[in-house]
Amino acid sequence: MLHSKGLNFEEPLLFESGSSDDAVFGVDVAAVSAHTAKLGTFARKAPLGLPNLSEPEVVRHFTRLSQKNYSIDSGFYPLGSCTMKHNPRLNEMLARLPGFAQAHPYQPKETLTGAHALMQELGHWLCTLTGMAAASLSPAAGAHGELCGIMTIKAALTAKGRKANIILVPESAHGTNPATAAACGFQVENIKATADGRVDLAALQARLGDDVAAIMLTNPNTCGLFERDIITIAEAVHAVGAYFYCDGANFNAIVGRVRPADLGIDAMHINLHKTFSTPHGGGGPGSGPVVFSAALAPYAPLPAVIHDALVLEDASTERCGTIKAYLGQFGTFVRALAYMYSMGADGLKQAAEDAVLNANYLGACLSDLLTQSYPSPVMHEVLFDDRFLKNTGVTTLDFAKAMIDKGYHPMTMYFPLVVSGAFLMEPTETESKETLDTFIEAVRDLAILAKTGTAAEQFKAAPQYAPRSRLDETRAARTPILRWTGSKTPQDAAAAA
Ligand SMILES: *Cc1c(COP(=O)(O)O)cnc(C)c1O
Repeated sequence: MLHSKGLNFEEPLLFESGSSDDAVFGVDVAAVSAHTAKLGTFARKAPLGLPNLSEPEVVRHFTRLSQKNYSIDSGFYPLGSCTMKHNPRLNEMLARLPGFAQAHPYQPKETLTGAHALMQELGHWLCTLTGMAAASLSPAAGAHGELCGIMTIKAALTAKGRKANIILVPESAHGTNPATAAACGFQVENIKATADGRVDLAALQARLGDDVAAIMLTNPNTCGLFERDIITIAEAVHAVGAYFYCDGANFNAIVGRVRPADLGIDAMHINLHKTFSTPHGGGGPGSGPVVFSAALAPYAPLPAVIHDALVLEDASTERCGTIKAYLGQFGTFVRALAYMYSMGADGLKQAAEDAVLNANYLGACLSDLLTQSYPSPVMHEVLFDDRFLKNTGVTTLDFAKAMIDKGYHPMTMYFPLVVSGAFLMEPTETESKETLDTFIEAVRDLAILAKTGTAAEQFKAAPQYAPRSRLDETRAARTPILRWTGSKTPQDAAAAA
């Protein structure tokens, strides 16, 4: 028996709520069966097994499921590293214009001149804001952009006959960085961090040599800090003939203020879905264009805007190859350009400054109670660790679960790995001071409660007000159930078969 309480509905699967005999709602099964003889050997031998439900029952099911989502449209979402910011509805309207939304991948090229002009304009903005020579537009998201960037670097190394096979990655890197390097056949080596959360320049210089193909560096990094030595790093990397790949997913913090080309970067992906709005994660697809220096432009995959011209195809055999079919995540291009146009260059710079201000505000209002890992000023996100929970019996995980009961999506936790029990908070520029103040009060209440040293049991019982309390953190990944079998577990299903 399922229990609903108030407006919090226990939602069974459609298969669990409708009987799955061969009676189909509103269909005269006997009349249909009379015709099945005509189907000969194609006639269905077993019932279809569809749940027997009316239209309102189906509508209610999906509407109730949609209301279970916590989203940026329902509340503040402090998830660090993800840049969960407001997505202006204007962008949505423009992405739905029939000429864009209904364009077909196999449409003749001559009929897509408007779409091509939009890509050209988007590439122009990306190259201008970064100071780079080219922008490959088709990667589908940040991690795909990394793949595109490292494959392009590999194509350049191959063209030059260089055999370097090491990619250096700092300890604080997003997990996608080492994964990308390994997927492209490189060997990954870690560069340690300094006590102030940045790349250890001496350790990097000591490791550089002609076996190094590239460094992959995030700036601002995932501790929310600007890499102060970045120009020296770029020079040292270039001196051994290696390339400087920058993970630009955090471009939101510096857009309009810093041009990555001026820092000596050779290739950088930009998460359009983070910096230039666009719903992402469970809310929609991303897009991860990669910008390249003039040295790497000849190896960049197409379609790309190169020296301000859109190139859809050419005769070169040196490019890294096609990274995605057709034009890329076109709907995201429209949203990103709409955002750029409505903000203007000055507005983009203001957004970056406000994002940094908001993160520093959180830091300033929480650092007397929580332990901030590195001193302010920070960039767009602020990092705390679990030192303030020492001897309280409360862990970072317990704290995150208690935030759900306060009505908040938890912050990013246990990442980056360079500090113990990380709390990574990214407020973004789109939150008001009132929203931040209410959030700060909730976090302060929890920190004060935890520090009494007598509330561990209470924290372990959280969340109390979510549809489910503590779930097994890894079972869904380790033993996923991907198909409805009518049984509770794959083991049951195997036993029943
Ligand atoms: C979000 C993010 C990525 C991955 O981007 P996806 O679009 O999720 O693939 C990579 N690096 C950093 C630093 C990020 O914040």
